[in-house]
Amino acid sequence: MKQVLSFIFYLGFQLTVIFAQPKPGDSLLFRKIFDEALMRGHSYARLGELCKKIGPRLSGSDQTEKGIDWAVGMLSAYNFDSIYKQPTMVPRWQRNGRSFMYVKSPLLQKLISGTDSQRAIANLEINKKAFPHSPYPEYECKSYIKWLEGQSFDKTQVPVSLTAMGGSVGGTFTGDLVVVRNRQELDSLGAKGYLKGKMVLLNRAFEEENIKTFFSYGSCVTQRVYGAIWAAPYDVKAVIIRSLSNSCDMNPHTGVTYYEDSITKIPIAAVSTAAADALSYFYSIEGPLSVNFELKCETLPDRLSANVIAETKGNEFSNRIIAMGGHFDSWDEGEGAHDDGAGIMHCFEALRILKKIGYQPRHTIRCVFWINEENGMRGALKYAELSELNNEIHVAALESDRGGFTPRGFAMDSVLLSRAKNYQDLLRPYGISELELGGGGVDIGPLKKQNKNTQLVALVPDSQRYFDVHHAETDVFENVNKRELELGAAAVAVAIYIIDQELD
Ligand SMILES: [Zn+2]
Repeated sequence: MKQVLSFIFYLGFQLTVIFAQPKPGDSLLFRKIFDEALMRGHSYARLGELCKKIGPRLSGSDQTEKGIDWAVGMLSAYNFDSIYKQPTMVPRWQRNGRSFMYVKSPLLQKLISGTDSQRAIANLEINKKAFPHSPYPEYECKSYIKWLEGQSFDKTQVPVSLTAMGGSVGGTFTGDLVVVRNRQELDSLGAKGYLKGKMVLLNRAFEEENIKTFFSYGSCVTQRVYGAIWAAPYDVKAVIIRSLSNSCDMNPHTGVTYYEDSITKIPIAAVSTAAADALSYFYSIEGPLSVNFELKCETLPDRLSANVIAETKGNEFSNRIIAMGGHFDSWDEGEGAHDDGAGIMHCFEALRILKKIGYQPRHTIRCVFWINEENGMRGALKYAELSELNNEIHVAALESDRGGFTPRGFAMDSVLLSRAKNYQDLLRPYGISELELGGGGVDIGPLKKQNKNTQLVALVPDSQRYFDVHHAETDVFENVNKRELELGAAAVAVAIYIIDQELD
């Protein structure tokens, strides 16, 4: 009997999959959604306000709290069914000003202090050898050299822009810098005792052969997250990392780092990719480089902050929720425009558009601005905790946290994916028909842990330029394209519609 029942259930499931089809009006509805986003969109203007009136939103900062008030006020103006905050404590780490690493290198000094002809020769040498991945360094990496030449400083020491990793300890540090390409080289030199009392530059570069740049990020990000833990047991004084970026430029990229209580906490900071290439070149000729720097960063006690939520109630299953969102917090470099101002604007705009075109959702649609994704996930954990406490059921959760670039499609969990594939022909004209297995994201992950049936979805935009600006001072509003942002918002609205129709 049990087998018969499970067969009937299986058959029922298969039939639902086979017969999940777009309805006759869906094509028109998608057109309406895109028209609203592209012709009367609000996402770009609201993102501009967030970036320019509020600015960067590091967890625990006064500015972030001001931003949360702004977000509540902004959402309130749209008369959604409810707007509320979900208070949670967040960690509070602050940078306390920018840093430079001062490098003593005879070759670099020659470059900036010689006669014009000496400089030209040294420049040529550097262009040829220091930037092997950049055939035209005069357009790309040379900006770094130009910048050096424009500095006024003590010419016995050359300043290199440095950004502390979020969570790093501060202090003043002096020593010899050794360059390694990866963890294996670190371990091999460390095991020989060669790194004792020295500093290390972890110079693992992005794998350029990957079409999706998130794969390159995934394999390099460990040097940022665990670099201090890897190096400390070899009595290394400090870790410098190569920024996690495809771009050869002079902007250092920040991001979170971890410590373990049982391992000495050593500072960790990043230099730009161009600086990492140059330092690696000088090291290959001159050996360990004498460097010194100061990091003024510190960790303060936790502070009360909040997620911000806007909702449209469902008319069929009001206690079953489809959540969509991104993170409100950002790093303090830049304005958090792509990461993740774009993501929260995608979702706010999707909620607005669905309301504007008069769509009555079956489920409750919830737009969440999660707090503290970058360095603690406290917002995501609080959201999941309260969801469980209130016996809520999340049918699905969508996260947009890959920048405001041209949307290509979605990554989804399997049940939703099999149904969404029936809509592929309708998605194709909008360039969003790439559907792949594997939804997820930092802020929606905890919901899946609670309920394995919750279908996770990620908006997948084009990833080629994301890591040029990710966690760097170039992540500003000016680097977000209006149409690309609006297309992303419309794509989210379409996905939410499909989820609302296809899942119960
Ligand atoms: Zn992000």
